[in-house]
Amino acid sequence: MDKLIHGTAAEGTVRVMAAITTDAVAEAIRRHQTSPTAGAALGRTLTGAALLGASQKDFDRLTVKIESDGPVGGITAEADPNGNVRGYVKNPHAELPPRVDGKFDVRGVIGKGTFYVIRESGFDIGLHREPYVGSVPIVSGEIAEDFAYYLAKSEQIPAAVSLGVLLRNSDPFVMAAGGVMIQMLPGANEHIVTMIEDTMARAPHLTSIIKEGASPKDLLTTALGVIDFEVLGEEQVLFQCTCSFEKAVGMIGALGRDEVESMIEEDSGAVMTCGFCNETYTLEREDLEGILLASGAN
Ligand code: ZN
Repeated sequence: MDKLIHGTAAEGTVRVMAAITTDAVAEAIRRHQTSPTAGAALGRTLTGAALLGASQKDFDRLTVKIESDGPVGGITAEADPNGNVRGYVKNPHAELPPRVDGKFDVRGVIGKGTFYVIRESGFDIGLHREPYVGSVPIVSGEIAEDFAYYLAKSEQIPAAVSLGVLLRNSDPFVMAAGGVMIQMLPGANEHIVTMIEDTMARAPHLTSIIKEGASPKDLLTTALGVIDFEVLGEEQVLFQCTCSFEKAVGMIGALGRDEVESMIEEDSGAVMTCGFCNETYTLEREDLEGILLASGAN
């Protein structure tokens, strides 16, 4: 089961997050039928969004949006405060040959562009606050570095981020996925920062230890080395969409009577696919007639 933990290290001057996201990433890739490289890119972005969400308070929805000129065309990943994530790649079948070292060319499929973080809050209590939007240019395209760059430039939080998705050409397609995010808060000792960076640079690759059964706590131990940390909370990570048949009906109804009538006449039904999770909702003739009846009553 996927899990995310968050906590602190170095007397509260460092915020630490780690997650295993193998199942959530597998579900995203299965739903969107992505190519391996697009799947790796989506998986890293979903994992990063979950980790970033766990480090922030006071939001209902956190969206990481990559708009880029590479073959994938862009990626959207959302996280809620409970560890639910959902997301999609604009061109899920985009693919490039592997790099010379055999790894997926994530940087190549992403290309150049802009990395956005959007935080929205207040829905639940009926407030419609302006969302917070931060953005930076894509500096790497490998995604973990882009999260770190975003945190440093846009939120003035020096950070070290590692994100990984390990795939193979058979079932289970996703063998391991997860990530670590370390944020240096005001007062963090320079020495500690350098130590963490050195430890993370020398650590074995994240997905190789996840594949061996590492827990989120093990990921932090690997990333932090001799530095002690305290876990403050834990949550489940789930690929979970907010769409439903009722919402699909509502959206079709919002198109107006004329549109609904022509759907009945021409197709005697309607089909809607959710962009976030690729779930398809089929509305039969009687569902559409129900919409007309309901709108007639108003
Ligand atoms: Zn959906």
